Amino acid sequence: MYIIMLGAPGSGKGTIGAEICNEFGLKHVATGDIFRNEIKNQTELGKKASEYISQGKLVPDEITIAMVESNIKDLQGVLLDGFPRTTDQAEALKAFMKENNKELVAVINLNVPDEDIVKRTSSRVICSNKNCGASFNTVFMPPKVEGICDKCGSKLTKREDDNPDTIRERLQIYHDQTEPLIEYYKNEELLETIDIDIYIEDIKERTTAEAIKRINERNH
Ligand SMILES: [Zn+2]
Repeated sequence: MYIIMLGAPGSGKGTIGAEICNEFGLKHVATGDIFRNEIKNQTELGKKASEYISQGKLVPDEITIAMVESNIKDLQGVLLDGFPRTTDQAEALKAFMKENNKELVAVINLNVPDEDIVKRTSSRVICSNKNCGASFNTVFMPPKVEGICDKCGSKLTKREDDNPDTIRERLQIYHDQTEPLIEYYKNEELLETIDIDIYIEDIKERTTAEAIKRINERNH
C-alpha cells in the first residue's frame, strides 16, 4: 500500500504523517532524506545529484525518479513525502508502480489556510543550545519562562527565515509547484483532502480520522 502526502512547509505534515504511518503500517519515506543519504554514501546517483547541486542547478527528474525508485522498490508499505513534485514525476511513479505491482491507494492533501501557517511558523522559537534543539511556540506552546528553554535553560531564538514575508514566499512557491499535482491526482480520483484547523485540535483529529476511514474504504 502506497500513500503520497502533500502539504506546505509548516502544515504539520510530520505529525499527521506519523499518524497515517501508524494506522496503516507504512514506512515514512521523505525524499529529502533519500537525497542526503545517497549523497553522503556517494552512490552513483548521489554523485550525479551532488554535481548539479554544487553548480546551483536543479537535479533533473530522471535522477530524482531513479533515486526514489531504488529506495522504495523493496518496501511494501510507504508514505511518500516530498515526491512527486511535478506531474512528470507523477507519471513516472505511476509507470513504476504498475511495473512493480504496487498500488497507490490515496494522495493526502493537507489543506491549511496560508495565514494560519504564517502565524504558527512566525511564532516559532527554538533553543539556541544545539545539543538540545527543543522548539516552542510563543502563541501555541509557550515556554514556562519567556525566552528560556524549558528543557535546558538556554536562550530561545527565532530562525531568520521564520518571518512572515519569507514564509509567504515559501508558501507561494509551494502552491505554484503543487497546484498541477493536485489537479493531476484529482483526475486520477486519488485525492483525499484533510482540512486542518490549527486552532482546534479536535477538528484536526476528526478530519484525520475521517480521511483514514475513507482510505480504508478505498483499500477494500
Ligand atoms: Zn534547550
